[in-house]
Amino acid sequence: MAVPQRFTSMVTKKEQLRNHFVRLVLQNPEGFLYKAGQYISLVVGEGVRRPYSVSNWPSCNAIACEAGGENSGIELLVDTKSQGPGSKFVENLKVGDSVEFWGPYGKFIIPDDIHGNIWFLGTGSGVAPLKSQIEYLINSGVSHKTRKTLAKTMGKIRLIFGTRYEQDLVFFNHFVNFARTVQNFYYHIALSQPSESFNPQNIDSDKEAHWGEYWHKGYITEIAQNLLQKEKPDFVFLCGHPGMMETAIELLTGAGADPKNILFEKFS
Ligand SMILES: Cc1cc2nc3c(=O)[nH]c(=O)nc-3n(C[C@H](O)[C@H](O)[C@H](O)COP(=O)(O)OP(=O)(O)OC[C@H]3O[C@@H](n4cnc5c(N)ncnc54)[C@H](O)[C@@H]3O)c2cc1C
Repeated sequence: MAVPQRFTSMVTKKEQLRNHFVRLVLQNPEGFLYKAGQYISLVVGEGVRRPYSVSNWPSCNAIACEAGGENSGIELLVDTKSQGPGSKFVENLKVGDSVEFWGPYGKFIIPDDIHGNIWFLGTGSGVAPLKSQIEYLINSGVSHKTRKTLAKTMGKIRLIFGTRYEQDLVFFNHFVNFARTVQNFYYHIALSQPSESFNPQNIDSDKEAHWGEYWHKGYITEIAQNLLQKEKPDFVFLCGHPGMMETAIELLTGAGADPKNILFEKFS
């Protein structure tokens, strides 16, 4: 694994998403090598740093670009709700600004022996490392023509993502696109407080994604509980709300999932 170093980079893209999420793309400095699921430690003030997971996969090929990924840089998804130094620093950044970071860090990475059914459970900004890992699994080492074959050997790859409101469905189109084009990728969402008028069919432009089957009002652990009636995951990756992770681990181990194959990242 690469030894963490200090890098200087530049903001190449900044997008204010709905509510308090900001998507940043930083120039990938020469020599910065990371694995899907790892994070950087962004310098947000004099002697102050904040960790942020890289949300895109480490390499680029035609498929990722076609699927909407921007792999020529380091993508971050920052939830600025807590309004501390990290949030304010990111909110004030502009395209062209220089930034410093240390990295890569973290052991929340895809094991070499990954196989079978792979579930990703995330809430809020916890989707960031999961997105990188999913992109890596789907895209790495495959050409356009063999993409479906790879998905097949992997079993079912499920992203079960939860937020309160539909406005916070970050990367929604990206994952719908995967659900549409990758045979064994399934995208499930849980909204705990959707608006009365919410209708997933309205935000799904492609009916082939069978979107309606995969949305649930409530928590992602309830989706997991239902799925466990018919399927067992071989590997699980968790990131997000601490309560969700606690409940999910209990649920999964109770259903016979191997604890050593349940990997998680805590954001606090
Ligand atoms: C390994 C790792 C990876 C991370 N990756 C991401 C990422 O990809 N995207 C992202 O948005 N954040 C991520 N975080 C969290 C991030 O580093 C900061 O904690 C967060 O942005 C708040 O920083 P801040 O300086 O704005 O607020 P702080 O000054 O750190 O905190 C302000 C207030 O908010 C509370 N608070 C801070 N963080 C949380 C939290 N997670 N849950 C509940 N209360 C909190 C604090 O207790 C405090 O009261 C990651 C954290 C870790 C440890």
